[in-house]
Amino acid sequence: MSETIRIGVSACLAGEKVRYDRSHHHDRYLTKILAKYVEFIPLCPEIACGMGIPREKLRQVECADTIRLIGYESGDDLTETMTQWADRVLPGLDDEELCGFVVKPESPSCGVKRAKIYSTTGAPPKRGMGFFTTMLTQHAPLLPIVNSEQLHNPLLRENFIRRIFVLKRWRELTALGKDIGKLVDFHTRHKMLIRAHDLKGYRELGKLLGQSSQSNVKEIFDQYATLLFNSLKLQATQKKNSDVLQHAMGYFKKNIDAKDKQEVLDMITAYRTGKIPLLMPVTLLNHFARKYQKPYLIQQYFLNPSPAELQLLNQV
Ligand code: SF4
Repeated sequence: MSETIRIGVSACLAGEKVRYDRSHHHDRYLTKILAKYVEFIPLCPEIACGMGIPREKLRQVECADTIRLIGYESGDDLTETMTQWADRVLPGLDDEELCGFVVKPESPSCGVKRAKIYSTTGAPPKRGMGFFTTMLTQHAPLLPIVNSEQLHNPLLRENFIRRIFVLKRWRELTALGKDIGKLVDFHTRHKMLIRAHDLKGYRELGKLLGQSSQSNVKEIFDQYATLLFNSLKLQATQKKNSDVLQHAMGYFKKNIDAKDKQEVLDMITAYRTGKIPLLMPVTLLNHFARKYQKPYLIQQYFLNPSPAELQLLNQV
């Protein structure tokens, strides 16, 4: 299993001149910051499926409940070209052990959410997922996928970074075989992180683990993965993070004096109102967790991310 976190990326974002007009769409955050901590697997689906450079622009068109990939001016239908190629290569992507994918916004092939989908009736285009990204999500529904613009929003970036590190740890866990004891340990260390995304999902995961036995290990692992990564898709907002910080503070109730308590509360409020980054109250609570020897808190990835994760979360 690869030591590094592997992230697929639309090749044009990595600076490769693969767009229809030989241009790129270089994103400096990706190549100057994220690239220090992850390994990129660049991919241009349009080139890889056999379209050359330069080439005609494409658009997605909804025809009779299916989405077709159509040449912008010629009207040529390239749906089968892309579909046949993707059906061939997507199973191979599993070997790359990707932990996430960063795609170009609005591209008819790579976009997420904001790619235009035209109608044959002349109605204004809808917005949706690009053609390749749709196939990618069908093949790997748990894979964190984000567009490069979302990475410039601090909360969405933090969300993506957290998810790729969780997926990496999940891959490491499952590479060792399926052991309920190890799954419970994995869950315990992620409890606060999951709560910050989805309290309901957190409770369902706990309930699921309560039903585990040696006879249903595979089902439990499969259901756990689906529930976990669907929970993490929900945004960890400032309010939800603050609730988790206050919950963590409850562990020190009997240890810290009124002055320290007020300092923590002020910091949580400052974070909740957007005045300081999450890492400030997290660092303070982590300090208290060590000072007062709270093993449950010390092992929480929410308070104590890995060094690479911490550095990425720290980047502006
Ligand atoms: S958006 Fe996707 S298909 Fe378009 S040039 Fe970039 S990598 Fe290629």
